[in-house]
Amino acid sequence: MPIPLEYTRRTLDEIRAGSPEHVEQLFADLRADFDAASSTVDSADAWKSFRDAWIGRKSGVLSAISDNWLKPAPPELKRVVGAALNQLRAHVEAVIEARRLEVEVSADQAAAVREHVDLSLPGVARSLGTRHLIRQTMDDFERIFLSLGYSVATGPEIETPYYNFEALNIPETHPARDTMDTFYLDLPPGALTQYLLRTHTSPVQVHTMESHPPPVRVIVPGKVYRRDNPDSTHSYMFHQVEGLAVDTDITFCEFKGTIEYFIREFFGPKVKTRFRPSYFPFTEPSAEVDASCIFCDGAGCRICKFSGWIEMFGSGMVDPAVYGFVNYDAKKLCGFAFGLGVDRFAMLKYGISDLQLLFQNDVRFLRQFP
Ligand SMILES: [Zn+2]
Repeated sequence: MPIPLEYTRRTLDEIRAGSPEHVEQLFADLRADFDAASSTVDSADAWKSFRDAWIGRKSGVLSAISDNWLKPAPPELKRVVGAALNQLRAHVEAVIEARRLEVEVSADQAAAVREHVDLSLPGVARSLGTRHLIRQTMDDFERIFLSLGYSVATGPEIETPYYNFEALNIPETHPARDTMDTFYLDLPPGALTQYLLRTHTSPVQVHTMESHPPPVRVIVPGKVYRRDNPDSTHSYMFHQVEGLAVDTDITFCEFKGTIEYFIREFFGPKVKTRFRPSYFPFTEPSAEVDASCIFCDGAGCRICKFSGWIEMFGSGMVDPAVYGFVNYDAKKLCGFAFGLGVDRFAMLKYGISDLQLLFQNDVRFLRQFP
């Protein structure tokens, strides 16, 4: 019959363990109690309480037996109690260690079930990135013009009115400023210089001519900003490529030949170009460049408004007044400049009807242009 554990708090005299047989019976009962208790341990917390109850240094059963049974035992019983206690201690420690391993293993198994990963399930496919259509179009422009001996220049998107307007022959009162609704930056207190977001890439022309003696042949790809409401053909931020060639012997023929070559390289050999007189403050004469409609081959369709031609971009021979701002000798030099909308070229080439698609970064749209 199991004995209540509080027996171990009493001395052997109190429980009248008068004979070695009685002592061995007490230990056998204790061991049965211990075995019964050990079978109920089913978690790490239960195991800790169980361990402390039996082999805890201060209040454990084995300590109590040592203090209350072994130490005060009469000499004739000491060996019997000592041997029985040692046997019990060895058994208790072995079982507690075994139970620890079992509890840990079952905790691991529970965690394994909880965190089970099925390696045979198919993975989540990640979309592979592609070059954005704008980037592809700009790369096309760069490829074509680099093959003609041009280099690529870049400049700041935050500009002063001087570089964005004045040095391009657009004085403060010029009506052309109205057509480029400009974002001005807030002037910090005490600041003397007004800043704005460039409305075209043309300021880089001025920077380039200021820092490089002629001859100059550059294209300038970049972002420009205007206060336009976003719709299918407008955006407050869009992309331009500016071109500038200045040398001592540049003629209108070279200008025309360069543009024709570029349009054919970009849209295909069948596309024809034409020049219409136009006006820009920084070119004289100025020309609007049209290309034969790439959708109907010039026969006339809805997109070209049945004219057979599509307006492409503005250009012209550099106005000599511009050379005056950068200390170029207007008597010896001549050149041409053009500025075209990258987004518009991409839309025409790839048949995109809404400009906003280029800025929404919807992968379903972008992955169509690998
Ligand atoms: Zn057409």
